[in-house]
Amino acid sequence: MTNTTLNATANHLHPFSDNQQLKEKGVRVITKADGIYIYDDAGNKIIDGMAGLWCVNIGYGRKELADIARDQMNELAYYNTFFKTSHPAVINLSAKLASIAPAGFNHVFYTGSGSESVDSMIRMVRHYWDSVGKPSKKTLIGRWNGYHGSTIGGVSMGGMKGMHKQGGFPIEGIVHIEQPWFYGLHEEGETAEQFGIRAANWLEEKILEIGADNVAAFVGEPIQGAGGVIIPPSTYWPRIQEICQKYDILLVADEVICGFGRTGEWFGHETFGFQPDIFTTAKGLSSGYLPIGAVFVGDKVVEGILKGGDFNHGFTYAGHPVAAAVALKNVEILDDEGIIKNVHDKTGPYMQAKWREMLSQFKYVDDVRGVGLIQGFTLVKNKATREMFPNEGETGTMLRDIFFSNNLIMRACGDHIVASPPLTITKEEIDLMLATAEKCLQEFETAMDSKLGA
Ligand SMILES: *Cc1c(COP(=O)(O)O)cnc(C)c1O
Repeated sequence: MTNTTLNATANHLHPFSDNQQLKEKGVRVITKADGIYIYDDAGNKIIDGMAGLWCVNIGYGRKELADIARDQMNELAYYNTFFKTSHPAVINLSAKLASIAPAGFNHVFYTGSGSESVDSMIRMVRHYWDSVGKPSKKTLIGRWNGYHGSTIGGVSMGGMKGMHKQGGFPIEGIVHIEQPWFYGLHEEGETAEQFGIRAANWLEEKILEIGADNVAAFVGEPIQGAGGVIIPPSTYWPRIQEICQKYDILLVADEVICGFGRTGEWFGHETFGFQPDIFTTAKGLSSGYLPIGAVFVGDKVVEGILKGGDFNHGFTYAGHPVAAAVALKNVEILDDEGIIKNVHDKTGPYMQAKWREMLSQFKYVDDVRGVGLIQGFTLVKNKATREMFPNEGETGTMLRDIFFSNNLIMRACGDHIVASPPLTITKEEIDLMLATAEKCLQEFETAMDSKLGA
């Protein structure tokens, strides 16, 4: 351990961490980054297969963003968008976002993060139903294993039981249904398409249980990201849409990971062929260069809200000029350089095929899945019976640590292993990432064989 790693935990409590363990074992200190690579203070060059936390879509080190930030800070470092004021950076970003959004989305509401986008969405959905004279529609339905952030609204909307346990969540008025996880939840002989319909129908059952007059919205990630890249069957989202229409319930897509090109379209709901009423974003909106989030609000919801008078909600940093200017440049780069089209036509299909081919040789790996540049697979003890390893998460962490020690960042979500590299990754870089991963998986299989006495 270097001095910096020792000092790193002296005065800093880390999020989502066992801080006692960090104090004993230290942390890795990342000092610079370029393209798909990050570098630590010991000089290691590391492939960032996760694009930070699923957010550095245009890759690291784009000087244009730094220049824009400096210029904007010199011109107008801060002003708010409350009380009848605005500024050019946020006006320009809003016009750009409306231009790339699907038809029917002409307004955005700004926040500082994905969690704040989700909280704002919850507030907005309830305000909408009040505004259109249906105040009893208050309950939001999410999914187990969904991730919607870590504020009180976000943690409640999400379905992470380990998070709920700390502090007594979810809050009142938020309930959950089971996730559309085909591999783990399908019945003998059931096809993916059949399972997709059955999983969507869990929503209808829940609505009938609560009463449609009490339900405000259904909220889901097009692909469950932090839940382990759970990709629903093609029948799932269209059926969800039907159910929401049938019972007059708002459909909300949480696009914080899927948004801004991850699935090979601007937004995940375009890839899955459904039309939400509202969608939340953050992460890829600025490629993580500065914190900013945006809630895209569909025309029907805007119309309702306009009848409702004051919306008593907003953040000091909503539409922050420097973050807005940087986000605009980021979106322009994604657009002008054809980065998303390249993911759709080239690097996405290439990476998926490569993972599938490479992983087929390993006996503890199953359910290889991907869309665009988001990929997942699951570690299982027995492929034939789909038996999982005991102590969920332990095996995933073991493999994750092998990746780390070989200078490849991948993430374990329980025993699901996931990748989400910068969208600018080239085919050669994909080859390099997978060659490294292959070596790690061999090391993992050998270790697991001896652990199981196989
Ligand atoms: C990361 C994430 C969030 C929370 O975003 P923060 O910026 O960490 O608050 C919300 N929803 C989804 C789908 C996410 O992946």
